[in-house]
Amino acid sequence: MSKLKLIFVIQKHDAKTLHYDFRIEVDGVLKSWVVPRGLSFNPKDKRLAIETEDHKLSYAKFEGVIPEGEYGAGTVMVWDRGTYRIIKEKDGEIEIWLDGEKMNGGFVLVRMKDKNWLFIKMKDEFADARRNPVLTQPKSVLTGRTMKQIEGNVK
Ligand code: MN
Repeated sequence: MSKLKLIFVIQKHDAKTLHYDFRIEVDGVLKSWVVPRGLSFNPKDKRLAIETEDHKLSYAKFEGVIPEGEYGAGTVMVWDRGTYRIIKEKDGEIEIWLDGEKMNGGFVLVRMKDKNWLFIKMKDEFADARRNPVLTQPKSVLTGRTMKQIEGNVK
């Protein structure tokens, strides 16, 4: 029997450019996309999501500073986390349900070209064009810290 609860995590990552890494647990690894502008609750928003390398499952709990010279150098925050399930998957399209601390409800990932996807909120009870958690909920769900506090390693 498959595991009932699969995890997802969204890590805010201030590397060369600030972006959000959306990761879902698939077959024991974290399948990952870079979402430059983060997720939206507005079904009219189409957020670019670029498929990137799988990460180890344990990386879902990583928050801290990756030193200069290392891959992904910069500050990483656990911006959101929770569980997910696949609603429907067909060629180039994944419908996914998120139960996170910030992001909830149905989302669809639509493959455009090569590694480029669009990340779109589905119209459901959680859809809300006025909510913008990227701006209004900027702190870590792991430690409650801001990016600056993580960077300075202060509590
Ligand atoms: Mn990243």
